[in-house]
This record gives sequence, structure tokens and C-alpha cells, in this order.
Amino acid sequence: MLWAMTRPLPRRMPLAELHCHLGGAVTPAIMWGIAHEQGIKLPTKDYWQFREMITASARRGHSFDKYLHLFHWTELIQSSPLAVERSVYEVIGGAYRKNNVTTMELRFNPMKRNRGGEQDLDHIIAASLRGMDRAMLEYPIKPGLIFCLDRDFPFGLNEIIVEKAIAWRDRGIVGIDIAGPESANFRPSDYRNLFARARKFGLGITVHCGEAGPVEEIAPVLEELEPDRIGHGVKAAYDARTMAMLRERGVVLEICPTSNLQTEVVSGWEEFRWIFEQFRQNGVRYAISTDGPEMLRTYIRDELATLGRLGILSYEEQVQAVETSLQASFVRQVSDVLAAVLEPARRVEVEREEA
Ligand SMILES: [Zn+2]
Repeated sequence: MLWAMTRPLPRRMPLAELHCHLGGAVTPAIMWGIAHEQGIKLPTKDYWQFREMITASARRGHSFDKYLHLFHWTELIQSSPLAVERSVYEVIGGAYRKNNVTTMELRFNPMKRNRGGEQDLDHIIAASLRGMDRAMLEYPIKPGLIFCLDRDFPFGLNEIIVEKAIAWRDRGIVGIDIAGPESANFRPSDYRNLFARARKFGLGITVHCGEAGPVEEIAPVLEELEPDRIGHGVKAAYDARTMAMLRERGVVLEICPTSNLQTEVVSGWEEFRWIFEQFRQNGVRYAISTDGPEMLRTYIRDELATLGRLGILSYEEQVQAVETSLQASFVRQVSDVLAAVLEPARRVEVEREEA
């Protein structure tokens, strides 16, 4: 073998997750509980069938559309203030417990959580922030929420999502994203002013592109929307000019290897070896993320460990990817996490019990 297997990163090294969808990040058992708590009629009464329904598996086969379809049930189950609060709380706490993720950016589309407008959007948003606050009280973490616009939504709806992100930015909304399937209705130029406005208010900008779509879709997004980061962007490896644009603008790619394999956007680990070699040669910066750890049954440490085990990234490159993710995080002051906040008060100070 030409490449050497590398040792995994130490567990004590804190990680940052930049690209994680709420709809793909809640443990199936918790989703099952939330669904029952709310009396949602599920198509099966068998937990294992349900688990199969909301997670990627070889049996179902791989494709981009099949992957997006998995979100149908998870988004429906998460569509209430209580469900959103619990989901956000569980994902952020779980990422810390399982992977020592101390900087957690979690993204979702609030309009896909309010049952088509039946429920008030601000209640959904406030609930997500409550979930985040609860997790922060329990663990020494720095989380932030990103609102996803949808390529398939009319401009007017996406505009409302951006305005909500701006309105709630001081409470922990740190950025905006565009997700969803490719759509003929979507033109980056239509969003130029809206994204400039979001940027003016200090929101970070990331956009899904160069994933299932062609490499040609990346350059217009960089020019019109001026993102700080790109969701996936693996297709950039196939075009030197696009890689030069990414490098010159300092844009960081959020690479989610298992997700790209699951959706067949990338054909296998050997293609990833080639993709990372292009990024290495062209000075393209990247972070490693999961996209949806529970849906894809992978965690961020698994992603890094696999890239190391296969000799695709060296140990130093894995450390660099972690550092890049911290540098590129939209969460403010990610380096000053206060672990001491969780120390109990001295007994003398809580002697008198109050109501
Ligand atoms: Zn994504």
C-alpha cells in the first residue's frame, strides 16, 4: 500500500460540527417517543420498521431523492414547539456526550416544522432556542442554529425565513443556508440583496451546492451570494477555476463523506481520495461533517477515523480539518467555552431553601 494508516484523533480533542440537519440528527428511539407523545399516526406500530423508515440503509438503495424522502417523517414528527425543543436539546447534548462535539451548528427549516402554517413560526423558533438553552445549561458547549431556506420555496417564503433569522439573531440564530432539491425556479441572482442584508446583520452564510448538482452551479453562488461556506461542494474538485475561486475567497467546504456515498453523489472512497488530493493541490479549505448522524448512522469521529484509516487524510490533515471547522464556525467566541460554569454552588450559599 502506498498510504499509511493513521491513528484516530484523541477522544479528548473537542470537535466542531458545522453541517448537521435536525431532521437527520435525532436518535430513532427519541423520534419514536416524540411521535407517540404527540399522538402522530405512524404507518407502522413496529419500532424496528419505523427505524428502517427514517434511516438510510443498503436495503432501500442509494440515491439523492431517496435520501431526501427520509426527511418526510422526521420533519412531520418534529412539527410542533414541544417536538422541536426536545429534538434540538437531544441532538446538541447527544453530540457532546457521544463525540465531544463542543461547537455544534444545527440547521433546519422552521417552515417545515409548522405544519404548513398551522402553527406560529415564532413559537417554533423560540422552542428551538429553548432546547438549545437547556443543552447549554447541562454541557460545556457552544451551539448555534442555522435556518435553511429551500430551493423549491417561492422567494416570499424564503424571505420570511431570512427575516426571522435576523430578528432572532441575538438569541442564537447564527446563519442561513439554502437546501432542498435542485429546482428550475431557483436563481442565485434573485437572492443577492436578501443575502447581503443577512450578512449586514452578522449572519453567517452557507449554501448547499456542488453536491447532486453540477460543478457549474458553484461559481454563480459564490458570485451572487458570497457565502462563507459551501455545503458539500465536492464537485468543485472537477474544475480548477472553481477551486481557485474558493481559495481566493477563503470559502470553506463542509464535506460530509458518508452522506455523499449514500446519495451516490460520490461513487466510493477511491473517488474521495482523488477529490481530497485535488483540494490539497489547489489549497481548498474544508471541514468534515456528518449531514445527519442518526439518519446516516455515522458520527463525526467515524467520518474522520475512516478518512484516516483509508489513508485519505493524514493525522495532521484531520487536525487541520478540525481547526478549520472551528475557524469557520458561525458561533461567536467558540474558543472560550466555560466548563467552570457547571460547577455546583458551595453548600453554604444554598443553605436556605426557597420556594
Ligand atoms: Zn446538508
